[in-house]
Amino acid sequence: MNKVIIKKTEEIKNWRRNIKSDINLIPTMGNLHNGHTTLISTAKNDNSNINLVSIFVNPLQFDNKSDLENYPKTIDNDIKVSFANGADAIFIPSNEDIYPLNNKDISFLKASIELSSALCGLNRIGHFDGVCTVIYRLLNLIKPKNLYLGEKDWQQLLILKNLIQTKKLNVAIKSIPTKRDFDGIPLSSRNVNLSKDERKLIRFFSNELLSAKKNFQLEKKINLKKIIKKLSAEKISIEYLEHLHPYTLKKSKVEDNISILAGAIRCGETRLIDHVFLMKRSPIIAIDGPAGSGKSTVTKLIAKKLKLLYLDTGAMYRALSWLLIKEKIDYKNEKILQNILKDISIVFKSNSNSKQDVFINNHCVTEEIRSQEISSIVSKISSIRAVRNFLVEEQRKIGGSGGLVAEGRDIGSTVFPDAELKIFLTASINERAKRRKSDKKSKESQDIELQKLKELIKKRDFEDSNREISPLIKANDAIEIITDGYAINEVVDQIIDLYNDKIPQETQIK
Ligand code: AMP
Repeated sequence: MNKVIIKKTEEIKNWRRNIKSDINLIPTMGNLHNGHTTLISTAKNDNSNINLVSIFVNPLQFDNKSDLENYPKTIDNDIKVSFANGADAIFIPSNEDIYPLNNKDISFLKASIELSSALCGLNRIGHFDGVCTVIYRLLNLIKPKNLYLGEKDWQQLLILKNLIQTKKLNVAIKSIPTKRDFDGIPLSSRNVNLSKDERKLIRFFSNELLSAKKNFQLEKKINLKKIIKKLSAEKISIEYLEHLHPYTLKKSKVEDNISILAGAIRCGETRLIDHVFLMKRSPIIAIDGPAGSGKSTVTKLIAKKLKLLYLDTGAMYRALSWLLIKEKIDYKNEKILQNILKDISIVFKSNSNSKQDVFINNHCVTEEIRSQEISSIVSKISSIRAVRNFLVEEQRKIGGSGGLVAEGRDIGSTVFPDAELKIFLTASINERAKRRKSDKKSKESQDIELQKLKELIKKRDFEDSNREISPLIKANDAIEIITDGYAINEVVDQIIDLYNDKIPQETQIK
């Protein structure tokens, strides 16, 4: 495709009509730096869509005339840099193109009151309304599939997500973590306007936030007053410094696993924002659901794609069953069982095939626990209260520092009720019966009539959902995904999108 530069609204409308592929929109205000180029190249590497970069200094989001006048403009270099980093087209409209006089098509929007009543919204009156107005206009003109934004402007990102939701627009927001300069300060187009002394102050501020993040990892708490005192001692003019919930932007509560420490300072004429995410433990995804919903396959793929530990709780029940059978333990005798459980250790280790092996008391049992003998007894053993309590504790120990995706029947409800993302994966009985019938690995299932398979599945669902100990339940805050008609990869992508929506990129394992 020929690289194009488009300047007029009519031209962009024409161009759009002739484009058959999906579009990634990367809106910017120009004077591009490494943060912008990372956005452009990330979009290029994510998919085969057409990458459109827009460059427009939006007057509506400036609350100060001199700030607008002084905003650095470097259009020739921006064009070069955009194309060099993966832009297929660049849209450089004028003010009159975006806001023509007497054009009834333009909606001057109001940003979410809840989200704009915090942080920058308190001092920059009308700023986020201006951001919403220009992005809504661009989205209507370009109709992209994906909108690429930086987490550097976290509040803006939340407000735009809210805009897309309330306007029911068919566009997905993709984000990248804040890119910082060599000295720790976030890259920003406005940095070129800083004097040496101003830059020194900003460096102090950003590095204070970064070291608060480091401290938080050890102490799990934040002392705002102490940070404010240190900044004030350097004569840094603080507009705000807040410790908030990262999605509601309300005061952070002790039970929040992820929070945001965000601040704005003034240096001469320039106002700069910075933030860090604070996390007590790495994120957890809980995936529950009935047999045959595709849980295991989906969970393994998610673990691989997101570089999370895969916690197969079923394998733990199987491994314990294997040991009890092999050592001929009278597990119905509570005393004997409790005595055995004291000395059990179950661990997962990656093997040379990039798969996971399961060990019980140092025996590798990955293969053996899949035998028919274990399959026929595991459900009975897992319904013993002492076994359940023991393994739930073990699972919590493995997940203590997070960074995992766990699958089972009671993960979101019992094992990790504070998981950041809970999925309840299911499929209709009809679909699950069809999947079992065509399962090449199970000759047994292939020989059973479809109707009979449906009855067996119904019976198993009933037993799983109605057993006394840890029944299969959908946690209140779980998102149900019905997998009928979807390919495995589509389900995986859907869950990864939900994960990206709930977890800032900056806190994800890379
Ligand atoms: P702007 O040109 O300032 O309007 O920014 C255009 C896009 O680039 C926005 O989505 C910003 O959040 C993103 N962006 C700007 N600076 C950075 C940075 N240092 N790291 C990551 N993204 C950034």
